[in-house]
Amino acid sequence: MPAIVTSSVFPKLSEPLGLFGGTFDPVHFGHLRLAEEAIAHLALGGVRWIPAGQPPHRGIPQVTAGQRLDMVRRATAGNPQFFVDASEVEASEPSYTVHTLERLRRELGDRQQLVLLVGADAFAGLSTWHRWRDVFALAHVAVSHRPGFPVEMASLPHALAAEFNARRLADASALRTSPHGGIVTFAMTQLAISATQIRKLLANGLSARYLLPDDVLDYIQIHSLYRNA
Ligand code: ATP
Repeated sequence: MPAIVTSSVFPKLSEPLGLFGGTFDPVHFGHLRLAEEAIAHLALGGVRWIPAGQPPHRGIPQVTAGQRLDMVRRATAGNPQFFVDASEVEASEPSYTVHTLERLRRELGDRQQLVLLVGADAFAGLSTWHRWRDVFALAHVAVSHRPGFPVEMASLPHALAAEFNARRLADASALRTSPHGGIVTFAMTQLAISATQIRKLLANGLSARYLLPDDVLDYIQIHSLYRNA
């Protein structure tokens, strides 16, 4: 293992570091396989999970950002290549991905290869993100396939398709040639699991077992989460 433990909470890696943001409401096996397979396909040293803070436009949440964070901690516990970053959850202001990447650059320096992991559906919306073009000046982007969401130029908004075309790397080994700026795609085990589906099952009193880790399901039950539609 390449990890060199420093005074920081997170180990410093000599390999590319994966960054995985999401609402994780709740975290499920689609997320876990994406992160696990990204490590293998992209030769990452590890993945830093970054649960999003509470979006300000949402009504009174049934599940708090702290609870989503707890569930991610439970799901990732025991995997030495997974690290959980609570900064967006703890921030008082809504965190944009570009701000998080800028903070990580300050923390990790200019030379660390950063790889933002996104599913195909999230990637298709990337050109709506705050200062989205700046993302490429801070990190690579790795897009995983997801059932129902093809990763094709034709299905992307024009401006994003142009970036995809210009930045696409032939293979994952090219991620090491620069700290940021490339786009790669990778095929993962196709799991048609979504947090929406899990919330619906639970709200209807149905079983969500085997769609997410038992430890997370236990937490949901202990805290009576997702009971009301
Ligand atoms: P929701 O159903 O509430 O929209 P979600 O299941 O899509 O949630 P998010 O937390 O929004 O989960 O997703 C975080 C990231 O994980 C996104 O980049 C998304 O594309 C990716 N992702 C989520 N589920 C899968 C899956 N089953 N396969 C591949 N990627 C996934």
